Amino acid sequence: MIKTDFEFKRTIIASGVILLIFSGAFLIYKILDQKNYISKNQKTVQVPEPVLPPDRIQTVIIPEGSVFSKVIIEAGVSSLDAEAVYVAAKASYDLAAVRAGRTINLAYDPSTNVLKKLVYPINDIEELQAKRTADGSWIATRESIKYEIRQKTARGKISSSLYAAGLEVGMDERAIIDLADVFQWTVDFAQDVRVDDTFSVIYEERWRDGFYVMPGRVLAAEYVNDGEKYRAFVYQNEAGIEGYYDESGGSLRKMFLKAPVAFKYITSSFTTGLRYVSAFNVSTGHRAIDYAASKGTPIRATADGTVTFAGWGGAYGNKVTIRHNGTYTTNYGHQSRIAVKKGQKVTQGQVIGYVGSTGFSTGPHLHYEMVKNGTRINPLREKFPGTDPLAESEKLNFQKTIEKYGPEL
Ligand SMILES: [Zn+2]
Repeated sequence: MIKTDFEFKRTIIASGVILLIFSGAFLIYKILDQKNYISKNQKTVQVPEPVLPPDRIQTVIIPEGSVFSKVIIEAGVSSLDAEAVYVAAKASYDLAAVRAGRTINLAYDPSTNVLKKLVYPINDIEELQAKRTADGSWIATRESIKYEIRQKTARGKISSSLYAAGLEVGMDERAIIDLADVFQWTVDFAQDVRVDDTFSVIYEERWRDGFYVMPGRVLAAEYVNDGEKYRAFVYQNEAGIEGYYDESGGSLRKMFLKAPVAFKYITSSFTTGLRYVSAFNVSTGHRAIDYAASKGTPIRATADGTVTFAGWGGAYGNKVTIRHNGTYTTNYGHQSRIAVKKGQKVTQGQVIGYVGSTGFSTGPHLHYEMVKNGTRINPLREKFPGTDPLAESEKLNFQKTIEKYGPEL
């Protein structure tokens, strides 16, 4: 087919328009691309912030029987620096008192390998920080340790002991001890624990620089002992004192501790399967509870009171008697060493002596008696009221704590 002249002109014009559109689009594309390029380029210009290489950190664990200067000189610190740090720290903390098992962190400049800083945790709250100044001298200060707090929940069922069950579900042993201590007025974990008892606990973990350091507070906990459920919620009252309360606002703190030996000393020796303790038994005449523990284990007063006897008690060996009020007294027998004197006032939990095997005894254990109005009774069956329940004015606030943690227990 032959195109007419008119048709030919139309094709030319159309081609021209298409070309114009394409070149325009290309131009716009190029402009946009250019802008994009610049912005990309500007970004790369902004990026190079002066990033200093991190300090080289050396962690030294203090061995048993060692001293500060020996530990850090063995770690490679010059005796000159060791001396200078010790002197600089002296006003804030005496480094002669460092404890075995704790760590000293040494920070070195990565390029010069010069010691810049030394950090020692004085306790869970504070650390000593010694820094080298620009002129090479050392300054030292006490600083509060800043932890990142993470919340953790653990649940378990007892097959042998609370300690074993806690370890099974991945708890730090210190957190297991904290959990037992929350219920130290409620459950005697040496005597009362039963197979199939259950627990759940919400607690804090303290982390630092991405590493787990230690457990923090127990926030809420539940222990079901022989079918009976006990719950505890942490609460700081209006006076600023923190304590544990049950769901109705009653304090878990009672007049008497359940056991005269702290849970941390009986973790491994007591299980539900194998208990080489003598229970309270009227028919055999053993109106006491025996706690097997190694010689030297601290014995604590189960309640506030006054020491009315501290000395040789014949068959009891070294014995301490505490009068708590007009109704109750307690006796602690077979001690290797007594730590209190007659007439002395003692508070609940205070160490009054140490486990031994003196008097009529075949092996180290504590013979613990509770006397009520002159009659020896079973302390585990005795019910004691809680002390200082929450005031009515605090109940609303406390309710919020229960709502926060209760459902997760
Ligand atoms: Zn006994």
